[in-house]
Amino acid sequence: MLNILFSAKPAAWDEYQAPLNAAFAECGLHASLSRDHAPGDVDYIIFAPNGPVTDFTPYTKTKAVMGLWAGVETVVDNATLTQPLCRLVDESLTDGMIEWVTGHTLRHHLGMDLHITNQDGVWRDGIIPPVAANRPVTILGIGALGAACGQALHQLGFPVTGWSRSAKDIPNIRCLHGDEGLEEALKDAQIVILLLPQTPQTMNIINAETIARMARGGFVINPGRGPLIDDRALLEALDSGQLAHATLDVFRTEPLPPDHPFWAHPKVTVMPHIASTTRAETAARVIAENITRGQAGKPLHYLVDRGLAY
Ligand code: NAP
Repeated sequence: MLNILFSAKPAAWDEYQAPLNAAFAECGLHASLSRDHAPGDVDYIIFAPNGPVTDFTPYTKTKAVMGLWAGVETVVDNATLTQPLCRLVDESLTDGMIEWVTGHTLRHHLGMDLHITNQDGVWRDGIIPPVAANRPVTILGIGALGAACGQALHQLGFPVTGWSRSAKDIPNIRCLHGDEGLEEALKDAQIVILLLPQTPQTMNIINAETIARMARGGFVINPGRGPLIDDRALLEALDSGQLAHATLDVFRTEPLPPDHPFWAHPKVTVMPHIASTTRAETAARVIAENITRGQAGKPLHYLVDRGLAY
């Protein structure tokens, strides 16, 4: 019998308990899922950063920590975490992000706001958006989510450039990497989408210098993490017209404080970190399959590289 500890906020237990037990049974795992196993007896921890476990030291027998979130920035530098850590890659999470990214890209591409916010009797037929083929889109971060969004945007006709840390070759995406690659990726980009993890290397990657490389009047869409953006530089670029609009789902402080200038800025859309979320049924299957791999002695999927912090 495997002892699997569930460490997330209490509401998640109600959501996940049945799907996890069903997925364990489907995988043929004999597992006892609980929020109360004695630390020394735990084989695997299913973990969200807002749950009760913060010190992993007593979990001496634990083979791996299976994250419920795609982003690991709040746990990756926990010095007590010596067990392997897996982040979540889940088809529903990916599908949700594709929908959110394509929706917000099309909003800006088509200039929908002009008409949605101006139902005032004025016939504004002077601005015709270009076709997607003439709207270069750049995605910073072409991992599980960024690459999937890139494929969807390609299907819609956008020329897609992607940027990553390591060299990549992904069909339908012009792949660039490294410092020089970033310069090229941003050059003339009209819509920049951030799907990077939060690491020391990616902090403030959108700053005055990088924004200046984009096409004038461009758009920034950030479903990645708040600290990817230098907030002050973003506001200055919006005020100067270098950027036309920023759609932000994530912030340095969440919830975004009511007095933050983003709320009142006419060129900022604030979203409450809802771009995409983990869905219990699909996530449970991913976790059960990964535990099955671990039990069979196979390498775990989606292992976090602690040195790289993602
Ligand atoms: P992932 O598969 O790990 O992909 C991360 C991408 O970023 C990879 O392409 C990686 O490059 C690149 N990268 C990392 N560090 C870099 C650096 N220093 N320079 C250049 N590229 C770098 O992650 P994912 O599953 O796609 O998720 C991405 C992020 O989305 C998560 O970390 C999380 O913060 C965010 N997220 C947000 C929501 C939401 O609701 N807002 C939901 C889920 C996830 P390599 O390919 O070379 O490794």
